[in-house]
Amino acid sequence: MRQLIIFIVLIINYSIAQAALEVQQVADNVYALEGETTQRSPANLGNNSTHGVIITNKGVILIDSGASYLGAKQLHEAIQTITDQPIKIVINSGGQDHRWLGNDYFQQLGARIISSAKTHQDQKVRTDYHLNRLGGLIHESLDGTVAFYSTETFDEKMKLTLGNVDLELYHFGPAHTVGDIVIWMPNTKTMFTGDVVFNDRMLGIGPAKNAQSWVDVFEKMAEFKPEHVVPGHGRVSDLAIATKNTQQYLKFLINKIGNILENDGDMLEASKINQSEFHFLSGHQDIAGKNAQWVFEQMEFDY
Ligand SMILES: [Zn+2]
Repeated sequence: MRQLIIFIVLIINYSIAQAALEVQQVADNVYALEGETTQRSPANLGNNSTHGVIITNKGVILIDSGASYLGAKQLHEAIQTITDQPIKIVINSGGQDHRWLGNDYFQQLGARIISSAKTHQDQKVRTDYHLNRLGGLIHESLDGTVAFYSTETFDEKMKLTLGNVDLELYHFGPAHTVGDIVIWMPNTKTMFTGDVVFNDRMLGIGPAKNAQSWVDVFEKMAEFKPEHVVPGHGRVSDLAIATKNTQQYLKFLINKIGNILENDGDMLEASKINQSEFHFLSGHQDIAGKNAQWVFEQMEFDY
């Protein structure tokens, strides 16, 4: 009997073993915390996403607070392996769960929470949707999660200083979500892009479902000529890789769907587009067909 109990305890511990975040140094005092590029799961606590960390002489700025209370705690523990400075500011780069549902954990530590005004609105509108969906995907790893919205917002541009670090925050328009922003750190030429850039895994056109706007937002981001791109998903890269993985894929879809519409084609043809040149991006089996359909729906409406 005792052996059976030990066995069961081992199984339970094993089943909730956390997927580790990769800590990557990007520049002096700049890091990325890279989560899995798979779907949200109990093991990854919903953190199937990449997060930015900037260490100043007055505390830490965290970009994106994780998808859950436990996910936020995991981010904090990873940060504590690189610094013992407190988290002073959390920036929510967009409206997806992993960008902000850990806010409550960090506000309890006294952090300011900043987002675009559009993201603040998006957080409110989609709270129930996110919590319901996460409940079905990460189960008990959602325990303790309470929606806490950003407390400081801006419309298009915000300058932010903490200690010896200056940042510029820009909302250029809808990309993956309606309120996405990019965060520019001039002195290290680092761009934190949130969901404006997907590396390693295939992006999803939703929820904003505006591929052309996403292309334009990417273009404005690229004009800064960043040396380091900390994406919303996948590994840190240079601008060329980010462009290939994200903007070229969006342009590819727009181009293919445009050809179909010009020839009076239909949705069925859209779903049959050969996307194999982007099959190096993980998750394409699940999302490639949907992306083509979403772009078709939008472009057909505009056509
Ligand atoms: Zn995302």
